[in-house]
Amino acid sequence: MNCRHCGTLLEHTFLDLGFAPPSNAYLSAAHLIRPETYFPLKLKVCHRCWLVQTEDYTSAESLFAEDYAYFSSTSSGWLAHAATYAREMQERFSLGPQSFIIEVASNDGYLLRNFVESGIPCLGIEPTASTASAAERLGIPVLREFFGELLGRKLSGEGRLADLIIGNNVYAHVPDINDFTRGLKAALKPGGTIT
Ligand SMILES: [Zn+2]
Repeated sequence: MNCRHCGTLLEHTFLDLGFAPPSNAYLSAAHLIRPETYFPLKLKVCHRCWLVQTEDYTSAESLFAEDYAYFSSTSSGWLAHAATYAREMQERFSLGPQSFIIEVASNDGYLLRNFVESGIPCLGIEPTASTASAAERLGIPVLREFFGELLGRKLSGEGRLADLIIGNNVYAHVPDINDFTRGLKAALKPGGTIT
């Protein structure tokens, strides 16, 4: 396997965690009597750029399907953190009704709901239908797509450049991180901020 950032052939496995099923892929009662697929879970490190990474065995489409079970709002501590973050970003960057905020992998709207309450225009990008629907019920506009350079350029072409782009626990889920990063750059307003 080649490094997903710089393309160097990976030579070092430093942690072998054996085999595991995909996280959050819960089985229904009917599936309990069927075989379950386990995948190798080895952590590799690139000796050129030091990116730690696992090898991909499943596609993003199969991991982030419509019945995706992880809802960020189930954690009250995480909700409190998101509210504090939103308040601090508004103050620090003087965000208001004239601003535009994008969250990539916005899940069920656990974070953007705070900006909606403050009357700040925002957009969530979220490929899993189950969580995207929950966000829409909170009044958050959601694009149900995977983010990358193509989508970043599309938003830019529509004049929808963001003052603030947010990504929480998302890089670790992205197969092509260089394409994803080019997308962030394309969608960011000059002088804007990415956290
Ligand atoms: Zn590398």
